[in-house]
Amino acid sequence: MGDGKKLTCGACCIPLTEEKTHFSYLGHAFSTTVLRCPSCGQVFIPEELARGRMAEVEQTLEDK
Ligand SMILES: [Zn+2]
Repeated sequence: MGDGKKLTCGACCIPLTEEKTHFSYLGHAFSTTVLRCPSCGQVFIPEELARGRMAEVEQTLEDK
């Protein structure tokens, strides 16, 4: 029940930090805030966010 659990990097066992990152997907570029490991640089994209954004881009392409 959401007691502030933080995601940690599976490799480094340290808390992830939020970072604005640029993505390119299917030729579309957009930026969003993702969780990133400050040590190894591994980026974790919440499934929810990925699904929403990716679906948005796919719809944009389908409109053409
Ligand atoms: Zn790491």
